Amino acid sequence: MQAILLRSGAKQVELADVPDPACRNGQVLIQALETGICGTDREMIQRRIVDVPPGQDYLVLGHEGLGRVVETSAGQDALKVGDLVVPIVRRGCGRCNACKTGHVDYCYTGRYTERGIHKQDGFFSTYYADWPRYLVKVPPELEDLAVLAEPLSVTVKASQTALSLLRRVKFGGSYSQPGKRERALVAGHGAIGILGTLLLLEKDFEVFVLGRRKSGDFQRSLIEQLGVTYLDATTDQPTDLVAREGGFLLILEATGLSEITFQLANYLGRNGTMVLTGVPRGPKTFQIDGNTLMANIVRTNQAIVGSVNACAGCFSKALEYLAVFRQKYPQMMSKIITARYEPEQFEKPFAQKARDDIKVVIDFRTAPKE
Ligand SMILES: [Zn+2]
Ligand SMILES: [Zn+2]
Repeated sequence: MQAILLRSGAKQVELADVPDPACRNGQVLIQALETGICGTDREMIQRRIVDVPPGQDYLVLGHEGLGRVVETSAGQDALKVGDLVVPIVRRGCGRCNACKTGHVDYCYTGRYTERGIHKQDGFFSTYYADWPRYLVKVPPELEDLAVLAEPLSVTVKASQTALSLLRRVKFGGSYSQPGKRERALVAGHGAIGILGTLLLLEKDFEVFVLGRRKSGDFQRSLIEQLGVTYLDATTDQPTDLVAREGGFLLILEATGLSEITFQLANYLGRNGTMVLTGVPRGPKTFQIDGNTLMANIVRTNQAIVGSVNACAGCFSKALEYLAVFRQKYPQMMSKIITARYEPEQFEKPFAQKARDDIKVVIDFRTAPKE
């Protein structure tokens, strides 16, 4: 079968023939429909660092999958041939309490694998096999959007994390004032930033998005059509807004840039929570005013927390939100997947993210099946 893979030390991905996966007892065989490309994929390529599975000199990339069950095996009755599924990313260590109870995203030992990222082949291949406990069934009417379930699951978990911390500063059912709509800031507008914006609107926050796009640019226009205020970091840092109205109760970081993230802490309001989702890699040193940062966190009960990956429950929630978002924002939802490429056209989308791209996917529907 065809697979898009990265070999150890290689500086480019390749489309190669690899053996079909075996469908082991209890597993199901899935035919790929669409697999999303994300920054994590491009970064592995740029850094030429790839965590290959044991005994293999390559890793099949892809952790944002959508597929159809084409074969089932004895020992499982959760899924049947024809079902649409999205796979979760992480496979637990099987030893710690988090993994044993289905919360593999909170694995305590660190001995997990991640499909398409860490020591297990991913979903840029015509077929893949998996266990039903790692698969979430997709309603047929969501086929065109369900490849977004993975990035949305990341924002579902991040928002749950932030809201669980904010619960401790909710008094008599309200935050700062009864009936007041609290402000949230989303930094970045890739798929996670944009889906996070929709999610926080759904949670009834007044949302602001921080990025580097000029008026009229694609992502900025999409965001402004939601009635959300866009702040151009190059011209209008939120400093004035924060000085006038106080900081944000919730900040969702979706930039992956450490320097910007510590600046964002200055925009956090009293009792506020900032949740980080980006993973910067490699050394980056810069100066920050550590005393002010620490004093603000302590004096105003702030929380800065990280959130990675998501469990099957967050994927199920993500699918529910996709249906809600489509009903409320049909225009927006039809524009988040900005391009679909056939597997043979893989070189261009993996080489670089175009300025107006939000989510780019490889469409395997036309890939040869034998
Ligand atoms: Zn991703
Ligand atoms: Zn574990």
